[in-house]
This record gives sequence, structure tokens and C-alpha cells, in this order.
Amino acid sequence: MDSITSLSGRFAWAAARVFDGERTLVDHAVLVQDGVISAVLPQHSLPEGVPLRREPDCTLLPGLIDTHVHFMRWQGPLFLAHGVTTVRDVGNDLEWILARRGEWEANLWPRLLCVGPLLDGPGPVHAVVSRGCADAAAALAAVRETAAAGVDGIKLYVGLHREWLPAMVREGQAAGHKVSMHCSGSGVLVAGSAGIDEFFHLDGILADVWPMHPAGWLSAWGRPEFARTLDRQRDVADAIGALGMTATPTLAYWDSQWRIRTADHLGSAAMRHVPTAIIEAQGRQAADPVAAALWQRALRAAQDFVGLLVARGVPLLAGSDVPCGAVPAGLSLWRELSLLVEAGLSPTQALRAATAAAAAFLGQPRLGRLRPGAVADMVLVRGNPMERIPERPDVVAVIRHGTAHRPGCLLAAAAAATATVDNEPWGLQLALHRAASAAAGTR
Ligand SMILES: [Zn+2]
Repeated sequence: MDSITSLSGRFAWAAARVFDGERTLVDHAVLVQDGVISAVLPQHSLPEGVPLRREPDCTLLPGLIDTHVHFMRWQGPLFLAHGVTTVRDVGNDLEWILARRGEWEANLWPRLLCVGPLLDGPGPVHAVVSRGCADAAAALAAVRETAAAGVDGIKLYVGLHREWLPAMVREGQAAGHKVSMHCSGSGVLVAGSAGIDEFFHLDGILADVWPMHPAGWLSAWGRPEFARTLDRQRDVADAIGALGMTATPTLAYWDSQWRIRTADHLGSAAMRHVPTAIIEAQGRQAADPVAAALWQRALRAAQDFVGLLVARGVPLLAGSDVPCGAVPAGLSLWRELSLLVEAGLSPTQALRAATAAAAAFLGQPRLGRLRPGAVADMVLVRGNPMERIPERPDVVAVIRHGTAHRPGCLLAAAAAATATVDNEPWGLQLALHRAASAAAGTR
């Protein structure tokens, strides 16, 4: 045990900069007592006799929150190693994820929030992690029963009929939950008019701005014709603002789609910790410069649209969509923050989207902030991320519920945690998708 990991019980951590989830404090310290923050104060006013660690080159931040993941065990230590101390699972087998949610502290995992399965229409896309609904009554029962199971939110999926949405939203919100949606075919505005609180991935925008778009899902965003929808994009961004929706664009997923079509991506340092089974399931593609260029333009178009949302003050949350696109757990949230900054947020605004703003949206006042009464989930990084979001953060330590961990130990734990991939709901789901696309390829 070194001097960092021996810190527990009552201790203080001082850094050149403390980002408290909202603003930056200079030469402050955070005082921790039994896993809870008891004070954030100038270093010179620390009480006597408290074990103190000073980190003059570093910034102390709240543990980050990844608001869009599909949890698997291998991801747990990787999230922590990169300073992500809370994740929201947005689609998984209900029983499985509820059981895992209760185990985070006994494992090297972040805290887990969950929404249960994707609530989808008849014939769900991701059968293993969805609950398909045949009609309006079944859809309403799905919301009621999912809420009663004790989830942290409700997630609606692409196959639901638009007529079902208002009653589903009312049911979920009456149970005290935010209702989020991956809206594709019927568009974001239909969802917003039904009262949906949050939309994922931006792909639903396509139905709103370019209803007659060619097949090819998100790649349509990369076509030259998409740029001609700019006036319509502005109108839709206005409407999203007026509807009070929150957006979680998961730009890291968009980013993955051009990267997995380039030759050197799989050998990159970022991919080192992604299990081969995950890459094989959906990440491994033959290098294809034409498709890569198309997807890269799609990402730029998505970032431009996020810029329109930023200009209208639409709240944004940071989510990566791990393991989709084989994006690496933890590191991809920092990538998401850089992509949000390119789209128009300041680094501080991007960090808020992964800390205080995320916690507020999720109804978790003790997370995402460094203030008295908050749980002591923190990350210490070298340098100043409020000046520039680092591509690969130099994480010195991660404190989860008052106990400090070294990233090196967490990465070693991650390497040992990949054996369970095939036995978990998303492992099974990805294997089914892979088998289906292999069968389609041989027809
Ligand atoms: Zn997702």
C-alpha cells in the first residue's frame, strides 16, 4: 500500500485547482470523513492534524458520470481507472443489471444506475436486452412494471408507435422517473411533444430535418445533401429548446464509426483494453477510406448540430455508448468531452456535463459535486482540464467512496476481468448480431 492508497477515514486532498462540478477553486483542499466530503476550503484554513496530500501540479474533480453505457463486468475497472465513478446503464437485462447495481462496491466498478431493458415495439432490435411491446396496453404495463422493479429511469426505444408515447411518458414520470428515448424513425420532435425528457444519439434528428433521406442511417449525415437542411436544422434546434429536452449526443459513438474503418485504429493505445470479443462482435472492419471519410463528415455534421443546441442553451449530458462501436470504457468519456468542446462547449461546460449537470438530471444530489455532504468520489489528474480536455488524461488517483485507488492497479484488474464477456446479456446480444450479419454476408 503506497501513500495514496493508504488514505482513508479522515483525510484531506489539496490540489492547485479544485473543480467542484460548477467552478474552479484555486489552492483549495477537500476534506473527507468516512467516505463523505465534509468541507471544501482554502488550503490555509485546513484544521490541524488531518492527514494531507498536496498535489501542486494537479486538478481535483468530482468523479465523472458516463450517462450512456451498457454495462458489462470488464468495463468496471476501466471506468474507474479513467476517473469515471458513476455510470448509468441505459439498456440491459432487467434482473441482471439490478443484481449488478447492488454489487458495485464489492467490485472495482463505478456506482451503477440503471433503466432496465430497452422498452421497444413488437420485434425488438436487441432482443436480449429489450422488452418488446405488442400494443399500447403492453407498452404501458412495461413502463409500470419496469418502474416498480426499482430502476433509476425509463428508456424507450426506436420501435415504439408514436401514439403510445404520451401515456408511457406520463406513466414513467408519475413514478418519479425521467423518461429518455432513442428516437429514430418518428423523430425527436414527436418524442419531445410526447413529453420525453432526454433524447440519445441525435439520429432521430434525421427524420425531422430530412424525412426522405436515403437508407444508411447515420451515414446520411455525411452526405452533401445533408448540409442543405441547415435551415430546417435551426428550426428543429429551436423546437428542441422550446420543448425543454436534454440531449445526450454520444459523439464518441459517432467518432468510433469512422475510426473502426481506418487501418491503424485497432492497434491504437486507446483500444488496448477493449476485449477482443467486443472488437470481433462489432468493431473489426476492413479498412475502407471512402466509408471512413463519409462517417467522419457525419461526425462533423453531428457536432455542428450540437453547436446549434449549445447556442440555444439546450442542456447536454456526456455519454459514450460503451460497448457499442467498441469504444473503450472510461477513455471514451474523455473523448466525448473533447468532441463536445469541438462542438462549442467550453472545457468547463463539458466537464459540468459529466459531473454536476449529469447528477442534477439523474436526481443524484450527492454525486457529481465536491461540496459538504457529497460522497467522496473524486479524480485527480495532472494538468488543467479546464484549459484543455486531455486526449489521454494523466490520472494520478481515483477516490471512490473515500478510498483511493491507483490507475495502474485498476488497469491490471481490468485485464483480468474479460473472461465473463460471453456470459453476460450484452455479450450474448453482440454475439447474436455478429451471427446474423455473418449469415447475411453468406446469402
Ligand atoms: Zn446505447
